[in-house]
Amino acid sequence: MSSRHYFLGLLGHPVSHSLSPALHNAALAHHKLDGEYKLIDVEASELKATLDQLEADGMRGVNVTIPHKQSVMKFLQELSPDVAAIGAVNTIIFERNDETSVRRGENTDVHGFCTALVEALGADALERATTGDALLYGYGGAARAVVAGLRVLGFHSIKVTGRDQGAIDEFCLSCSATASPWWLDKVCDRSSQAARLGNRLESVDCKVEPTRILSARSLAGVTVLVNATPIGQHGDPITDEFLEVLSNLPKVCFVYDLVYSRHSLSTPLVETCEKLALSACDGSGMLVYQAAKSFELWTGRKGPSDVMKDALRKAIRL
Ligand code: NAP
Repeated sequence: MSSRHYFLGLLGHPVSHSLSPALHNAALAHHKLDGEYKLIDVEASELKATLDQLEADGMRGVNVTIPHKQSVMKFLQELSPDVAAIGAVNTIIFERNDETSVRRGENTDVHGFCTALVEALGADALERATTGDALLYGYGGAARAVVAGLRVLGFHSIKVTGRDQGAIDEFCLSCSATASPWWLDKVCDRSSQAARLGNRLESVDCKVEPTRILSARSLAGVTVLVNATPIGQHGDPITDEFLEVLSNLPKVCFVYDLVYSRHSLSTPLVETCEKLALSACDGSGMLVYQAAKSFELWTGRKGPSDVMKDALRKAIRL
């Protein structure tokens, strides 16, 4: 393959449901770049061999999704600070010069989340919102990108809730600025670059703490709620527990749903919020902006977000 060809793809298992090819192929066409974004279904046992083969074949870069976002870290030579903070890779860049080649791991979810939230709320409203609390529902992989994003946006208080109190406590502890990165011992040895990066995490003036009391009174200061659970992803209704939280939110609170639908431009959470007179939006903005950032890292061209949004709308209508 020539270095002027942009061969890109998505590594995961399964991947057939992904909307990413529609977004990236539209971006390649927009910039008149020769190349293709493909789905690469790979099981964990084949991950290293597949990366080696893709590199040998001249691949420019790949996105990474479930279940490889963490395990892939040990096969990369460089990790970005966002990866160090979150403990997950969603983008790999194969960098080559005449003598060496380096695999660099990035995470564009933080950029995607921040850009989408700024767009949804507007910069002024968002600045006002940062004086209140953010409430995070869920504590999985995407929740870590959301915590990093809310910190970048200037929130000083993030409250975390969900269904497993023990897991929430553990999540909040691992998010504390002084904690050693939670993923360090799981995915790489302490002498690696990842370990050095992780140990240099800046201390940020932002409290991440569990919240158990979810009454209207205790939620009065919440300005933004982020859903980082898959509730509603398959059209399933909002759980009673979550509905109670939503019902107790102040009406000025904005709800950002990370979930996006493959069949519609809304989600059960967004529809529920409409009924409760709460402003809300789905996760399609984050999907587009994280993709646009990955595209930029691979090609050096700006990810055309409007073109990618159009491609997403068309793919959803198919
Ligand atoms: P994950 O690592 O599996 O974490 C899921 C979290 O949701 C866990 O805290 C889990 O708690 C909780 N949860 C699952 N079902 C629940 C339920 N019925 N009630 C309460 N809590 C529940 O998943 P993830 O990667 O963070 O992704 C979460 C969602 O965000 C997915 O729908 C994903 O598609 C979406 N996402 C969107 C974007 C975007 O670009 N818009 C990017 C990343 C992720 P337990 O541990 O108790 O199960």
